Amino acid sequence: MSQHSSYELDRRTFIAAGVTLIASTTMSKADEPLAPPDKQPPHVKTPEPPAKTVGWAIVGLGQLALEEVMPAFANSKIARPVALVSGHPEKAKKVAATYGVDPTSIYDYKTYEKLADNPAVDVIYIILPNSMHAEYTVRGLKAGKHVLCEKPMATSIAECEQMIAAAKSARKKLMIAYRLHHEPFNKTAIELCRQGELGKLKLITACNGQDVKAPNIRLSKSLGGGPLQDVGIYCVNAFRYLTGEEPIEVTGFASRPKDDPRFREVPESVTFTLHFPSGVIASGDCSFGTAESRRYRVQGASGILDLEGAFGYRGQRLYLQNEDRISEMKLTPVDHFAAEMDHFSECILAGKESKTPGEEGLADLRVMTAIEEAIRTGRTVALKS
Ligand code: NAD
Repeated sequence: MSQHSSYELDRRTFIAAGVTLIASTTMSKADEPLAPPDKQPPHVKTPEPPAKTVGWAIVGLGQLALEEVMPAFANSKIARPVALVSGHPEKAKKVAATYGVDPTSIYDYKTYEKLADNPAVDVIYIILPNSMHAEYTVRGLKAGKHVLCEKPMATSIAECEQMIAAAKSARKKLMIAYRLHHEPFNKTAIELCRQGELGKLKLITACNGQDVKAPNIRLSKSLGGGPLQDVGIYCVNAFRYLTGEEPIEVTGFASRPKDDPRFREVPESVTFTLHFPSGVIASGDCSFGTAESRRYRVQGASGILDLEGAFGYRGQRLYLQNEDRISEMKLTPVDHFAAEMDHFSECILAGKESKTPGEEGLADLRVMTAIEEAIRTGRTVALKS
């Protein structure tokens, strides 16, 4: 059928529908149909398909990828899973079948570079152990794809700088997966701090702790594990996003119980204090040996903000205290991973920089490296502004 005749048919159908509609308005109440003839209310809103979607390759099918990221595609507006990279072919086939990924778009770590030849893939999401982030990010960028890399960006400042340079020379985008920059409770906390709702900021405390069972990549030094790298980074990043400043000096302590084999390679707990140019003092603690505990408190001259569950995937609760009144702020939660993937997809389509480019990951690595130096030397470590 030609385009013209198809149009004519649509027009006739439309006119016919219009006549029916006009006719029905002249019917008496007794003649009115009790249900619409096509069993669909005339005012029903059918969704428009999105104008353009962005194809994602997921690299590493571990806990985060399978339990949070793959399910998040259902809540995403424009991000679509189109390829998988895994060392386990049977698992990858099963995941591909579940999420409608073409089985010919399954790769392993040796065939990773072949992603370059897959035009459906716009962006690669690195969800591997921390020690592999730099290598797979650089290889992905060289393959001509944009990259979203999980936190922490890498295991050293030098690796972060290589990743940023690789993105620049490939002219591709690099974003670090800081999901809380897309999360409404944390975003509101930032606004309250920046808009002076608490008065001048003075003190921030934050903790992010969990009980990690072996075996786990988090307990391996060679894979870039450790509580500071895995969970402490959320406190460091929050201190920076709540104040909008970079710290000028840090201190740190770590504890490693000798009788617990989980902590042969990494500390159990780390505490740290950051001093900011405005005078804010922020103290954080993180642990792999405590019950789950994730929250922060910001104390200003005239108000206090508490975010319970601050760093979790869900369940945040935000309280604001001014004088002696405490109020809970009710906000609509979102799927952090869908929001994050949609944000990067939009940036790719619009040619914009993301909220958390490589430089954001590097800034956290600088602070964490200084904290480690402070732990090692027992001294306060100054950071260059
Ligand atoms: P995981 O151990 O469950 O998954 C790691 C994946 O890497 C597995 O599929 C494993 O098979 C694969 N892998 C490939 N080579 C490996 C090797 N040499 N050794 C070990 N594993 C290898 O870990 P995870 O919890 O999914 O964490 C993965 C990444 O995601 C880490 O960087 C972590 O920091 C990050 N993460 C981020 C969040 C967040 O909220 N943004 C939450 C959890 C984890």
